[in-house]
Amino acid sequence: MSTSQDYRKDFDILKNGEYVYFDNAATSQRPRQVLDAVSEFYRTANANPLRGLYDWSMEATEAYENARKTVADFIGGVSTEEVIFTRNTTESLNLVAYSYGMDNVNEGDEIVISVMEHHSNMLPWQMVAKKKGAKLVYLEPSMDGVISREEYTSKITDKTRIVAIGHVSNVMGITNPVKEIAQYAHSKGAVVVVDGAQSAPHMAVDVKDLDCDFFAFSGHKMMAPMGIGVLYGKRDILDKMQPFLTGGEMIEYVTREDATYAELPHKFEAGTVNAGDAVGLAAAIRYIKEVGFDFIEEREIKLTTMLMEGLAKMPYIKVFGSEDPKKHCGIVTFTMEGVHPHDMSSVLNDDKICIRAGHHCAQPLMQFIGAGSTARASVYFYNTEEEVERFLDKLQKVREVMGYGA
Ligand code: PMP
Repeated sequence: MSTSQDYRKDFDILKNGEYVYFDNAATSQRPRQVLDAVSEFYRTANANPLRGLYDWSMEATEAYENARKTVADFIGGVSTEEVIFTRNTTESLNLVAYSYGMDNVNEGDEIVISVMEHHSNMLPWQMVAKKKGAKLVYLEPSMDGVISREEYTSKITDKTRIVAIGHVSNVMGITNPVKEIAQYAHSKGAVVVVDGAQSAPHMAVDVKDLDCDFFAFSGHKMMAPMGIGVLYGKRDILDKMQPFLTGGEMIEYVTREDATYAELPHKFEAGTVNAGDAVGLAAAIRYIKEVGFDFIEEREIKLTTMLMEGLAKMPYIKVFGSEDPKKHCGIVTFTMEGVHPHDMSSVLNDDKICIRAGHHCAQPLMQFIGAGSTARASVYFYNTEEEVERFLDKLQKVREVMGYGA
């Protein structure tokens, strides 16, 4: 049986236990295997991929395309033509909004998103709606984050062209019923975009089973380098879309007046690609597979349960989302009566404890739950029970530091 300690040795930054890192929903840490894979790419096969007809360039191309195959297998065995490398979830979602949304949404149409969306899955749709004279319709969750069937069947209608929904909320930690929503949306002729930034690092994702049309995620939240992300899209839809960015690498033939575009997926990958970080993402996926989602989930539930039980003992703390730790995907968002989350985070930082404080790029959700700002502790499989104890212990002291009695 593996333990978190078995894996911590792979993370230089965590090794000496000086810091408690509980901001994994913002970005994860990276194991040596990932850093080594990136370094090895640059040390042994560095040349501009997809261009040169010499060994190094061809090796770089091979490494890049192998990484794409690893990603395609990871999300349910899709075709490599359906896997587009981007910088992050934000870019993936903007690609869909601009290349699909702007051409397929018209005046009077509706785009359905939820109040829980990260700004990355909200602002691009606001842009499309404004530009095209369409209406943005919001799915409203219950106070613990559940979007009911009644809610989505009443909001998704024949007018809906796009449903864009987060798989897991970065504030509530709740997993949305995206498969059921996709099924219903398709029955109304809408296209379904899933923001998988918070699900891909934590659970096995099969985009074919979800039957979503697009699925976006970021490498950096799942131990890959910052700067590499993925957009999965169904081939027949991608084929019909115009490119998002234009320039080198994404063309077939160019004249003074016009151009024909490269085949998928390169049509959507203009300019020099980020092969080094794609290689890093493939290494991160291999690492995740070695750890296994069963272990990841088991550890997250264990630590989340400890966190929520500890917080429940503090009457001045309010936790958001479900009461069931299994429905938090390692994310615990809370407020402390009388103490601003920024102060909480700063006091904890004095003890080298890293949590997130603010609106978590989800301001409409903050308004919905009636909090201007919240604190968020988010764990990953390499966190430990000792870290949770240290965090809970220091959190109690925050109140004292801020002038309240013990
Ligand atoms: N969606 C969700 C649910 C997220 O949690 C995040 C990152 N906080 C994003 C989108 C945006 O990810 P990135 O900054 O990597 O583009």
